[in-house]
Amino acid sequence: MKRKTKRRIIRFTILLLGLLIIAFLIIFLIKLIFGNNTSQKYYSEEAIKVIKENNLTQVYKDDYSKTLDEILKNNLYQDAYLEEYLKIDYLDETDFLTKINQYLEIGYKAEEVNNIFKLSNINQDKLLNLDKQSDFTKYLEIKNFNIENLARYEEYQAKNQDKSIDKVVTYVNLNLDKEFYTDPIRIENPDEITTLINKYHYVDKDFVPKNLVTLFDSKNGAKMVKVAADAYQKFIEAATKDGLTLESTTAYRSYSFQNTLYTNYVAEDGREKADTYSARPGTSEHQLGLAVDLNDPNVIGQRLDDKDFEWVKNNCYKYGFILRYLEEFVPITGYMEEPWHIRYLGVDLATKVHDSGLTYDEYYDLYIAEY
Ligand SMILES: [Zn+2]
Repeated sequence: MKRKTKRRIIRFTILLLGLLIIAFLIIFLIKLIFGNNTSQKYYSEEAIKVIKENNLTQVYKDDYSKTLDEILKNNLYQDAYLEEYLKIDYLDETDFLTKINQYLEIGYKAEEVNNIFKLSNINQDKLLNLDKQSDFTKYLEIKNFNIENLARYEEYQAKNQDKSIDKVVTYVNLNLDKEFYTDPIRIENPDEITTLINKYHYVDKDFVPKNLVTLFDSKNGAKMVKVAADAYQKFIEAATKDGLTLESTTAYRSYSFQNTLYTNYVAEDGREKADTYSARPGTSEHQLGLAVDLNDPNVIGQRLDDKDFEWVKNNCYKYGFILRYLEEFVPITGYMEEPWHIRYLGVDLATKVHDSGLTYDEYYDLYIAEY
């Protein structure tokens, strides 16, 4: 290519770019100058009618807000809240207008009302029945935030400054700000595979899971809920294939059986010690028919050796089980490490829990419980 032609192309490109930049600048300036005006809205006819009929001289045309417009239109206008209506961002949601009047009545200001609508619907409804709550802005992004626990979060955070706000919320939701076994909560649907049972959640004395079947390798009639028993068989077959010699000891335990076990442990070791390794009756995963204790008959002096434990740890989720009681989980579960105790959750959920690295308690609160 000739040098002249090359130069011409470069000059032309520069000119083109310059023109483009100028065009963008002009569009930007137009928007800046006229933008506000073009988006300016005026009260709807229905709203103006209400303003005139009620002689609301305090409502100025310049003060337009969609929220106020809708409030007027729907005959929900209350003079005392005029300033607040103007600052509340309009949302096209059911009961939005009646709700804002209710929140304003409780004593919230516009900015707080705007924040309330960033909360879950469950929390929004709870707030309607609570006295005015203190500032919860810092919890807005927290998925499992429960407005009912606000004061407890603050108190727990003050005592546990090293914990992140997310941890504080989860721990308090799990009632870990209270002693174990304080204010126990009755489990409503214990037949659900996802059921969380722990030192704060219990099942009734007479609860017996549906579909209990005897485990394929059981020597003592150990049973689990069928779906878990089937998964257990696949789990053991895989373990056997990899050269392990695992077998089941106990699985489902009735309330009365757990009661006998626990009572004996207490007699032997005292209540405090017994609580670290045995569940009080009604709070055992074994009563759900979803847990099984493993044993390796070739290991002497303990239930499993390190090789067994490693394999279980790395593989059980693939068959729908999780290790519920690990060393690092002790502060949350309140139980010492139990490498032999596995809990059925189904492959999908067990995999998610495994990948999260969380206790099932935390996982449940974050992803299964609804707030
Ligand atoms: Zn167990």
